[in-house]
Amino acid sequence: MDIVVIGIGLIGGSFAKDVKKLYSEVQITGVDKSEAHLDEALELGLIDAKGNYGSLTSADLVFVSIPVNALVEELPKILDAAGDETVVVDAGSTKSLICQSVENHPKRRNYMACHPIAGTEFSGPSAAIEGLYDGKTNIICEVEKTAFKLQERALAIFQDMNMRIRYMNPEAHDKHIAYVSHLSHISSFMLGKTVIEKEKNERDIFDMAGSGFESTVRLAKSSPDMWAPIFEQNKDNVVETLEEYIQNLIMFKAMIEENDFERVHQEMSNTNRIKQILKGIPLTKK
Ligand code: NAP
Repeated sequence: MDIVVIGIGLIGGSFAKDVKKLYSEVQITGVDKSEAHLDEALELGLIDAKGNYGSLTSADLVFVSIPVNALVEELPKILDAAGDETVVVDAGSTKSLICQSVENHPKRRNYMACHPIAGTEFSGPSAAIEGLYDGKTNIICEVEKTAFKLQERALAIFQDMNMRIRYMNPEAHDKHIAYVSHLSHISSFMLGKTVIEKEKNERDIFDMAGSGFESTVRLAKSSPDMWAPIFEQNKDNVVETLEEYIQNLIMFKAMIEENDFERVHQEMSNTNRIKQILKGIPLTKK
């Protein structure tokens, strides 16, 4: 099997690791705008060779894991360069604009729109983790637009990685992911900002912050290069989730100001339901 990974960072590198473990005969070519990342990926054994878009004609599968703004620009060119029998899969965290960027492309049947719901706050090839996708969900959009034989080839790999597959349209994906992923990142970034601004003494933060603070601000370590384009592409949904979140914060503050601790207790007790809802979601450790 001949696989090309475009964007050999956390997501592409983790995909490469699993594929190498699963299939002994696989040949993985890396394409990346960062020459340093390609060298690192070679050193780490994530890829067997460096390549370019010329490598796509003969590939069985191309896995595109570059930031979503670059995806919209590059995906049409990647499909131009792909062979007739190549399946091009992306991992972008937004789906509507990416799908629109190739909706009228003559090789649309060669593209499968995916979003593996797996990741960490780290970036680059050194962040790649074996087993990152194990037990995680892969959301696939507009699957009917991908040639059946090519869908099957990509799905077989995801199934071998023990991924759960869910089908969704791009608009529904972007709406739901704004709540469960994009809003969490914004709230983590802004919590981090609030504490950094108020607690100017880094030593105090370090000494006093418990594991609760650390786990809540974990996502604030994420790469702005990756997240700013996600918020831009999913602006309308992100603004809607933020409005609801801000209303909840305002309401909670008012309850405290008004000494209505019975309602404060009630709100938290209602939200404890999250324990049951999240049961079964394996957390990624790094
Ligand atoms: P990453 O670790 O930063 O890796 C991205 C790689 O792509 C970097 O080496 C980057 O190089 C390179 N790159 C950027 N623009 C490029 C271009 N035009 N052509 C070729 N290479 C390019 O990012 P990641 O976390 O793996 O994320 C990759 C994709 O997966 C994004 O679309 C993201 O939305 C999606 N995703 C991320 C997560 C997550 O938790 N991180 C989860 C699911 C899906 P430079 O560093 O030099 O820019």
